[in-house]
Amino acid sequence: MNRARLLVLNAPLGVLDYRVPQGMAVEPGSIVVAPLGPRQIVGVVWEPERLPGDEVPEAKLRPLLDVLPVPPLKPALRRLIEWTADYYCAPPSAVLRMVIASGGALRGPSTTTEYRLSGIEPDRMTPKRMQALDALQGEQASMRELAELAGVSEAVLRSLSQLGALEPVTVDCDRPYPAADPDHLDVTLSSEQAAVADELIAAVQARAFAPFLLDGVTGSGKTEVYSEAIAAALRTGRQVLVLLPEIALTEAFLRRFEDRFGAAPVTWHSSLKSSERRRAWRAIAAGTAQVVVGARSALFLPYAKLSLIVVDEAHEVSFKQDDGVRYNARDVAVMRARFEQLPVVLASATPALESLQMAESGIYRNLDLPARFGGAQLPEIRLVNLTEQPPDRGNWLSPAINTALVDRLGKGEQSLLFLNRRGYAPLTLCRKCGHRFQCDNCSAWLVEHRFSQRLACHHCGHEEKPPLACPECGEPDCMVACGPGVERIADEVAGLLPEARIAVVTSDTLGSPERAAAFVAEAEAGAIDVIVGTQLVTKGFHFPELTLVGVVDADLGLEGGDLRAAERTYQQIAQVAGRAGRGAKPGEVLIQTRHPEAPVIAALAAGDRDAFYDAETEARRHAGAPPFGRWAAIIVSSEDDTEAREAANRLGATRPHLPDIMIYGPAPAPMALLRGRYRYRLLLNARRSAHVQDVIRKWLDQLDFPRGVRIGVDIDPYSFV
Ligand code: ADP
Ligand code: ZN
Repeated sequence: MNRARLLVLNAPLGVLDYRVPQGMAVEPGSIVVAPLGPRQIVGVVWEPERLPGDEVPEAKLRPLLDVLPVPPLKPALRRLIEWTADYYCAPPSAVLRMVIASGGALRGPSTTTEYRLSGIEPDRMTPKRMQALDALQGEQASMRELAELAGVSEAVLRSLSQLGALEPVTVDCDRPYPAADPDHLDVTLSSEQAAVADELIAAVQARAFAPFLLDGVTGSGKTEVYSEAIAAALRTGRQVLVLLPEIALTEAFLRRFEDRFGAAPVTWHSSLKSSERRRAWRAIAAGTAQVVVGARSALFLPYAKLSLIVVDEAHEVSFKQDDGVRYNARDVAVMRARFEQLPVVLASATPALESLQMAESGIYRNLDLPARFGGAQLPEIRLVNLTEQPPDRGNWLSPAINTALVDRLGKGEQSLLFLNRRGYAPLTLCRKCGHRFQCDNCSAWLVEHRFSQRLACHHCGHEEKPPLACPECGEPDCMVACGPGVERIADEVAGLLPEARIAVVTSDTLGSPERAAAFVAEAEAGAIDVIVGTQLVTKGFHFPELTLVGVVDADLGLEGGDLRAAERTYQQIAQVAGRAGRGAKPGEVLIQTRHPEAPVIAALAAGDRDAFYDAETEARRHAGAPPFGRWAAIIVSSEDDTEAREAANRLGATRPHLPDIMIYGPAPAPMALLRGRYRYRLLLNARRSAHVQDVIRKWLDQLDFPRGVRIGVDIDPYSFV
């Protein structure tokens, strides 16, 4: 090979050709360093015929500089990059960036210095030194991390190091992870579970593409069952990827893995430190990371010898990425399994309609676990019609829920109240002039958070201190809360049960793994009586003493006209209901609603999943919605409203007219202002057979837009805001 075509990380650079200097060994997939003007860039050698670009004459080619000391990207991964870029109308380089997710990892082996206590007492003690010596018993980390841990400055630690009280330790950045042992725990499966596990194990051994839908009620042992398939993969010395929604990546889940396999899995998620990313990436590429448990971005990593992919809670909306490359990790996982020729398991108690349809048409193999393990019963579900049994004035909990809460507290059992709204109230007004507190950057209200005493935008993260007086009319101490958030519900429970121990569980209060672990420990120890939480509490947790689940507002998710609103409501409520009665005591679920007749609510009450899915299937078929037709969205945005509107109108005016694709809009997006950008939207509704992506590409290619305009394409969108 004396010429090389590169896919580089920077999209606007396009495809670049280079000369391969004599003696340099490269092959397709090699990760290389190349010159670009005065700079050096990283790229991946690609098959030229698969990457269209202008042919550069031989004489003009500059030589590659270096091959990086990491394994070349395998053909299956290169095909996945191409497919993802093509399907989601994204630049291949943007997909490649998700693969090469750690710059540090490319630079080869490396060491770093950490510090730990040496046991030597410093001659002179100061209060700060004392504090550090106390706090750092048994710890080893970088100076900066130790300083943070001990709550002292790095200068204090440096002086301790000079005095010999802290000693340096050279650490290999790529030190291996503890080995997972497939036989660490001997699990006896029920016969239903064993039958399902055997199929998965056979698929792992067959080393061929095999998509499964593992459809089992909450508590049926889906995790136990796919763990047996993981064990089978480990016995063959190959790797496993388990994808979880980010919020389910909890300490509790990881601990369960550790109990099963004797070692924690390698984790991959957005809040890894760069040293952890580097270490994980290299172990994944080297094949030494045996089980990787990660959020959706773990899907694109360069596994050396992958043998199984599990997507747990596969119905979860958070597998869909809503910026950058707008991919759905559930769907891309199936494609990866196809390119790599391996089994993929989509596990869920409430599968997406799209997945059920695939199973029904025989494309996915359906595996059912219809009963809870160990004879635990599914909870009894009752509707509370709020029009007939309204809460007291200014309250949000009906007499039925209040009575049940009192009853559980009396029996020493736990209750869980679910409301998918963070903060104290969704809307805050001035009592005098009616001024509504709104975000300057978004079309959204600011949400009052009383615990942390701030007003926050849940879309852009903007926060401000609650003002002492109304910015509009000057009325002091003016704020009134409209509607309930979890904090307000917690207040109401405290009023009803003054002696109850109440925990509010949201991403605000459970932001870190430590706090999540502390919550689980407290709940398991029976130190919490009532949990009030958002969707964060709907999954993963297993508290045997929890016997009551109250859904504060089942109608909430049905507002807003989202295409998947009914399905999402069904999934959320079925999942949260699944937290009740997981132990020996039976569970009860009370659902507050104003629309007991709505099909989704009625199906929940009747425990009739099929009825819901049948009704929803018909509705989707009728609307030409997925899985029967497909949607795509084009979002045009700019910081300048006129510029955005004009660009959207131009797009609208040049729309193609096709028999199998309807194009709606442009119209202001429901979130017409988001993070300071004005947004307009066009929606495409196409027959399944239509080549939506080709149509969009051709359409957009003809047009040039001002620099400030951004065009986002969303294939199979989940969010319609
Ligand atoms: P799911 O993932 O379907 O919600 P889990 O795998 O979490 O179900 O199982 C629910 C509970 O039952 C867990 O506490 C799990 O440890 C237990 N369990 C399930 N199957 C078995 C089994 N075969 N042996 C022992 N415990 C089991
Ligand atoms: Zn905002």
